[in-house]
Amino acid sequence: MTGPLVVPPGVAPVALPADVPPEVRRRLGECGTLLPPFTDAHVHLGLVDPAPLRAHGVAAVHDLGWVSGAAAAWADDPALPRVLYAGAFLTAPGGYPSDRAWAPAGAVEEVADPDAAAAAVDRQVAAGASFVKVALHGTAGPVPDDATLAAVVGRAHARGCDVVAHAEGPGQVARAFEAGVDRLAHAPFSERLPDELLAAMAARGATRRPMTWLSTLDIHGWGTPTPEHAVALDNLGRFAVAGGRVRYGTDLGNGPLPVGLNARELAALAAAGLGRRSLLTALVGDDPPAGLVSFVPGPAPARADDGAVHAAWLARATVLDLADLRDPAFVPPAAAPGGAA
Ligand SMILES: [Zn+2]
Repeated sequence: MTGPLVVPPGVAPVALPADVPPEVRRRLGECGTLLPPFTDAHVHLGLVDPAPLRAHGVAAVHDLGWVSGAAAAWADDPALPRVLYAGAFLTAPGGYPSDRAWAPAGAVEEVADPDAAAAAVDRQVAAGASFVKVALHGTAGPVPDDATLAAVVGRAHARGCDVVAHAEGPGQVARAFEAGVDRLAHAPFSERLPDELLAAMAARGATRRPMTWLSTLDIHGWGTPTPEHAVALDNLGRFAVAGGRVRYGTDLGNGPLPVGLNARELAALAAAGLGRRSLLTALVGDDPPAGLVSFVPGPAPARADDGAVHAAWLARATVLDLADLRDPAFVPPAAAPGGAA
């Protein structure tokens, strides 16, 4: 036996390779719980030292904005989590984040019109991007007009890529949704969204491409919640109740976030109403990396425990490489490696 598996709908169960020796299976089952590998669906590896991520439970990341050449190098590094990336931020001339000190040359492409937008999408795809990031930050400068935004979305979809939008400021979330954006980089925090809009977003996947929200709740105060934190929590909770797709994302690199699973982010998701199954779905997503599993040392909570208990437990996960489990001498980590306080 490999220990209890907690597998939500749509998540493939953890299947240990047949050549994992019985003594390793027994040790794993006695010491903790195996789960599918976890993804942080919003990071900026260029702003952190990513080396600790795997030991602290992150098996894959989605880098949502950097120089594509650097991102390609991370994707080739076997010591890092599996890296999928957006490449450069696409934004209006002078728009966010073209004016930010943390954004190096090459991490931002300013697109003035639909032709420029399509060409910029093509450049990111040619550089290995798996999705495209567009900035709709309406309170920090100009944003792409409707035709340019439509060109970003149309070209990205034609190239097989999702579009992720940083939507901030009044009306920008609705605009992203109407333009066919696939993912919001942040649970909306600028304004309380009406139930009708949330329901429409949650239902879109039934007939068209689904809408997914990346949580990023902890960036609003890093443990000292701000008014935006409360707005985001309320929006996300109602979106989830409406059946909306939520993924765990931290915006790693934005302020004092732990390099690994963020216990505060998971606790905030639980506070928004996500239970055991929804938390795991948010962490695993729909594109888990092959060859890796999550291992949570220590006893698992009871199924009936509330989301906060499960959040704290999941935050203690580490990443195991299935190839390492073939060694009969393999001993799983007995103590929690960390996660974040
Ligand atoms: Zn970000």
